[in-house]
Amino acid sequence: MNEWIAKRENGDIALWLPSKIVLAVDVFGDMLLAARISLGEVSGFAKVQAIERSLFISNAIVPYQDCSDIKTSIFGDNFRQAIIEFENSGGDRADVTCWWHSHADGPVFFSEKDDSTIDKDILEYLRDSSSDEVVGPFISLVINRRAEIRGRYDFARPALGGVVPVVLAEGAGEQEVRSYLQGNFQRMSALIGERVAFFEDGGIER
Ligand SMILES: [Zn+2]
Repeated sequence: MNEWIAKRENGDIALWLPSKIVLAVDVFGDMLLAARISLGEVSGFAKVQAIERSLFISNAIVPYQDCSDIKTSIFGDNFRQAIIEFENSGGDRADVTCWWHSHADGPVFFSEKDDSTIDKDILEYLRDSSSDEVVGPFISLVINRRAEIRGRYDFARPALGGVVPVVLAEGAGEQEVRSYLQGNFQRMSALIGERVAFFEDGGIER
């Protein structure tokens, strides 16, 4: 069940067992700052690179969005819309192979809504936009303000997925994370202020 299928460069299909999701300090730091600075939940994209059995996440992006205590607008059908808007503002669709979002002060788990966004919207979108035999892995991450984080991978084709541990890149300790957070607080505050609007109505679906 934990096995996943990846296509090698020579075209063979091989079975692999992913061991972990690896976050660089800047990616972890940017997601954590976004979670702490935003008034409610916040979502973004990132890029995944599979190297042997590790899935490396780079380039955390915060697209324009609305948020509330309990949801961000990059959910469900809005996922496609968010990618289109991201492309229209000069972003590259190839950079969107990871969806991350925060649960503010709540626990980190994939809610029913999250599962449905991943299964119905993200994976369906990926299937629609590629005819390859193997489409994925796509990574989903949930983080909260206490820096707890949880991750899963999914293939749009074949239908495979699972939960794997999320770790910081080698050489990235507590000290490195703390100094990244201090050094980037201003930049992320400006970015969040510019891109994330809070629902006035407290998050009632619009
Ligand atoms: Zn969630």
